[in-house]
Amino acid sequence: MLNPTITPTPGAPAEPAEILRVSHVRRGFNKTQGELLVLDDANLTLLEGEIVGLLGRSGSGKSTLLRIIAGLIKPTGGQVDYLGKPLTGPADGVAMVFQTFALFPWLTVLQNVEAGLEALGVGARERRERALKAIDLIGLDGFENAYPRELSGGMRQRVGFARALVVDPTLLLMDEPFSALDVLTAETLRTDLLDLWNEKKLPIKSVLIVTHNIEEAVFMCDRILVLSSNPGRVIAEIKVPFPHPRNRLAPAFRQLVDDIYAKMTARVIADQARPGQLTLGSWLPPVSTNLMAGLIETLAAAPYNGKADLPEVGRSLHLEVDDLFPVAEMMQHLGFADMREGDIMLTQAGKIFSDYGTDERKRMFAEHLQRYVPLAARIRTVLNERPGHRAPRVRFEQELEDFLSDSAAMETLDAVINWGRYAEIFSYSDQAEMFSLEDIES
Ligand code: ADP
Ligand code: MG
Repeated sequence: MLNPTITPTPGAPAEPAEILRVSHVRRGFNKTQGELLVLDDANLTLLEGEIVGLLGRSGSGKSTLLRIIAGLIKPTGGQVDYLGKPLTGPADGVAMVFQTFALFPWLTVLQNVEAGLEALGVGARERRERALKAIDLIGLDGFENAYPRELSGGMRQRVGFARALVVDPTLLLMDEPFSALDVLTAETLRTDLLDLWNEKKLPIKSVLIVTHNIEEAVFMCDRILVLSSNPGRVIAEIKVPFPHPRNRLAPAFRQLVDDIYAKMTARVIADQARPGQLTLGSWLPPVSTNLMAGLIETLAAAPYNGKADLPEVGRSLHLEVDDLFPVAEMMQHLGFADMREGDIMLTQAGKIFSDYGTDERKRMFAEHLQRYVPLAARIRTVLNERPGHRAPRVRFEQELEDFLSDSAAMETLDAVINWGRYAEIFSYSDQAEMFSLEDIES
């Protein structure tokens, strides 16, 4: 499939061709309470020869944007152009690697890899030939007849890659392809993929990788696009100037990671998490009260004494960005901390909390929880008002599903159950899936 936009005119200066253009893309999901706007005015361009990272917090709409680019779902506004033509559905030459591998368990490795070609109507012999080549290329030689369940996570994701590569894609899309793997396996696979790319052994012209991991983005990408949340939109572009192979410990590498970290915390958190901003239908992250208390204590103690560089505390607590953001964000929502330009500082309440003992902490947390998290207050009010002071989980789940997807509603309720139990504002029985005020002081 030759396209004028990727075939340079002889004699003309070779400019990188445009592979993909996302213009003003908007996507909402219908909820009974109205539209949940996930992407609004999202813009990006991919050029030939580059690996681009799409970096954002979980829930920011990364997968949604990738699925729109893959032609799997339609935007509710805006346009996607692939090789200069508007995209109307899944396009030839666009392949995707998923976080969860998405293999057919009843097919062997070879059959899984061939499956992609079958859909394209490629004949049996050519299918076999191309599948074996892709299997060889990605280091799965000898595993042709194994079933997915017989493989380690790393090998399974290699099948995921082989299945994407076998169609000779022009554009490779990857949705957090390494995040379900252990650290070492992930690094091996990243490096193998980069080697293939840098040695030009892949037909791929451009790669778009979605990640929540800043280090991964700096390790792999030529350019990083930062996606904001609520709604998702590209808010920053960072060029990564380092040649491959990259050294994660090099000072310039570390500095760039810190800069991006600061940029993301400054814009994402400061703008969006303020005490009093949460509504009943807000999605809440599964942040443990231990982690919040731990961060408050760390911040209160020397050498920080109430204020720290967020990337630095993150590292000292061994927290990745995707783990630290929600904690910091919840602390800000609850009025215990403030975020500004990459710094996190304890509020007066945060300092008092760190000085308190266990019981006083619980009481203070209970007060902030009911003041700033409407769902916690709602559960408590319903329990207060009901004659038996009991209410089933499903009562609140249904209420939340008016605002959130089913899984987000579950997560949100689980988060509030955790905090409410710690704060002792209600009891909850996992077995009976029932809230109550048993053993709770009024
Ligand atoms: P990310 O990949 O950045 O974690 P997603 O694109 O998966 O984010 O989701 C962004 C938001 O859109 C979430 O709030 C999610 O609940 C919502 N969402 C995604 N897909 C659907 C869907 N099919 N129906 C309703 N809501 C959805
Ligand atoms: Mg996702």
